[in-house]
Amino acid sequence: MVKSIDCVHVHIMILYTIYKGNMNDREKMHMKIGFNEATALECKGQSLMADLEMCEKYGFDYIEIRFDCLKEYLKEHTLEELAEWFGSHRLKPWAYNTLLYFNQRDEAGKQEVDEEVEFILKVSKAIGLKMLITVPTCGVKDKTVSEIREEAVERLRYLSHKVGKDMRISLEFCGAPDCSINQFGTAYDIVKEVDRDNVGITLDTFHFHEMCSRLEDLKAADGKKIFAYHLNDCEDLPLGSCGDDKRLWPGEGVVDHEGIAEALKEIGFDGVCTIEEFRPEYYAMSHEENIKKAAQVTKDFVNHYFG
Ligand code: ZN
Repeated sequence: MVKSIDCVHVHIMILYTIYKGNMNDREKMHMKIGFNEATALECKGQSLMADLEMCEKYGFDYIEIRFDCLKEYLKEHTLEELAEWFGSHRLKPWAYNTLLYFNQRDEAGKQEVDEEVEFILKVSKAIGLKMLITVPTCGVKDKTVSEIREEAVERLRYLSHKVGKDMRISLEFCGAPDCSINQFGTAYDIVKEVDRDNVGITLDTFHFHEMCSRLEDLKAADGKKIFAYHLNDCEDLPLGSCGDDKRLWPGEGVVDHEGIAEALKEIGFDGVCTIEEFRPEYYAMSHEENIKKAAQVTKDFVNHYFG
């Protein structure tokens, strides 16, 4: 009798340990992970379909689809085929990258933006894509920050209305000296003033670092307004001097990941963490090795900072 109770007890203990182990794994992987197609863009054999298959294989939850990769795919395939692929796989589309240069455009430029948005809406409807990321124009001369802000607010309200409430627009400030919106604080002021539920911000850690965006600004933000989180690192070079080719795997450079991650947790950010690299050395890897490595570093990062 005593022996059988012990036996039951041991069984319960074993089951509990297995259950706890599973719970820990699940808790650790609470944050979903994404892959931005820039990461393997120039690897031999890269294509949208190759990225999809590898991302599925190595456990990404989401993919950010690049405009050029999608347009290349559509030369020989259809959106219906793409929708079918997503319908039969675990991987899902997260965002469209990128609606280029939404602000400070002339009439012909605005027309281009409109046409691109029409295309994105078609894609969205076909494959269930719910967000587009947009980047600001660079090389704008002789405009004050407030003039830039005012015009960007107007453009984003226009686009917010155009895409409708089922589609989100995420403004990605770019950490380059000549980019018209190049710091988190400026981008956040714009998005706040736009004041639409479907307009928010992409926080790319490389861009955040490069133009000295301030953690105080991030800590003062509403976490629900951070729509996308681009993960990478940056070489230890003078601030503002780096091109995208100086990006590194997270943890290998000088970006203050701890500060950014802590701030994001503090403000209640609850989105996807998406790896985005543009490094020639990573393009020299095989396509599979690149995505395998990208998945590993993203999982490790999320477990470390958000586990
Ligand atoms: Zn980015």
